[in-house]
Amino acid sequence: MQIDVINPATKRVVETLNRSNVEEVNDAVATALQSFETWRQKTSEERGVVLHAIADGIEASATELANLIVSEQGKPLPVAMMEVGGAVAWTRYNADLSQKPEVLEDSEERRVEVHRLPLGVVASITPWNWPLMIAIWHIMPALKAGNSVVVKPSSNTPLSTIKLVDIVCEVEPGLLGFVLGGKVAGEALVTHPDVKKLVFTGSTPTGTHLASLIAKDLKKVTLELGGNDAGIVLANADIDKLASKIYMSAFINMGQTCAALKRLYVHRSKYDALCNALVDMAKAEVVGNGMEEGVTFGPVQNKNQYDLVTSMIRQARDSGSEVIAPELPEGLDGYFIAPTIIKNPPLELSVVCDEQFGPVLPVIPYDDVKEVMKDAIHKEFALGGSVWGEESDELDWVVEQLDSGTVWINNHAEVLPHIPFGGNKLSGLGVEFGVEGFLENTRRKVVSYSKK
Ligand code: NAD
Repeated sequence: MQIDVINPATKRVVETLNRSNVEEVNDAVATALQSFETWRQKTSEERGVVLHAIADGIEASATELANLIVSEQGKPLPVAMMEVGGAVAWTRYNADLSQKPEVLEDSEERRVEVHRLPLGVVASITPWNWPLMIAIWHIMPALKAGNSVVVKPSSNTPLSTIKLVDIVCEVEPGLLGFVLGGKVAGEALVTHPDVKKLVFTGSTPTGTHLASLIAKDLKKVTLELGGNDAGIVLANADIDKLASKIYMSAFINMGQTCAALKRLYVHRSKYDALCNALVDMAKAEVVGNGMEEGVTFGPVQNKNQYDLVTSMIRQARDSGSEVIAPELPEGLDGYFIAPTIIKNPPLELSVVCDEQFGPVLPVIPYDDVKEVMKDAIHKEFALGGSVWGEESDELDWVVEQLDSGTVWINNHAEVLPHIPFGGNKLSGLGVEFGVEGFLENTRRKVVSYSKK
């Protein structure tokens, strides 16, 4: 069976590719293993030089990569260029990480060091929302630590990843391979005996399923999964200052961002002012094909997501909630959904309880922050959370209550190469970015010299 890569702005096939069979997966792992044997011998500094050369290659192909991202994913070109910029920044950050042994004790009795060694071949499985950037998040720390990688992109968005593999292999042949497909290729890859770690970003059901497949071999695993991030706007929040940041945190990439703001709880005294500001920003978006100049808001990436998000909006309308969205321009024939604000939704509505992963934000008024926190803390997910307002005991209390992997104050969804990022509960296992994320790509060897 083949894979049709569809442009979500036009529903037209951009490219047709073959799915990898098990034999091809085995070949990809064998090539990566061979490359690992020489790559692991290089010093950390030598690997850093190679990663900088890869970053140069990404920069040199920035326009081509961004065009591929728009055609397969749908985001507007400036956002795709931002994605490529992020890919370069994460690559250079990992290039510069040092990998010296840590000295835990150097006394008359003993010297104890912790060495960090590569694992072998790492399997990376990525989703369709930020296809290039998430591949980079998986691949670069793994390579810097001395591993080789086989990546399996989402079948919806493989093109930018295939181009990335070309760029890496031009600098260091064999270091990064790819396989295509879903269950068959993905499961053959992660269960292959020469694959020593899985790094996965995607939905919670797929992530937990894959982790269960490799549990018996005790392979390392890093999972970045779903979320349903809440933001709490306090009574003392300065709406004029914060509204545009709140809007961006929810609607960036048409809401298809793991740690986007997905439920907004607003103190009643600020409710109308903030809703009006959000609606004005939604109306100012230019919705259309991301390749066209001036377009600020593209389609959602695929039909399933379109059906899911539109059904959530329909359910909200049927519940009597106020659903506010600008009219879509005429003549569009893609998976377009206008940025939508839902006022006063019942708390049991799907768009509040479940992850929408799309351009719709439920905005819920509250009177008592202590009461609202009981709902804001999700039973299953804990990826990110935020509180918006001036410094106060109340703000500190909300920060303390939120149980997510990251808590932002007057911000949301900001990720940086040097700051660890990961979810709690069913939002993930382990961490990416920073030194902590890098170390997840290594095995620890404690070396203890007795001096007496
Ligand atoms: P998904 O789980 O359907 O797919 C993710 C990847 O897994 C794809 O490459 C897919 O082909 C692959 N896959 C699916 N079944 C497989 C199997 N049986 N064996 C091996 N591979 C398999 O998720 P999605 O629809 O691509 O992405 C959307 C979800 O991802 C959302 O829930 C979102 O929250 C989550 N996400 C999380 C983060 C994060 O950092 N936490 C980032 C982006 C997306």
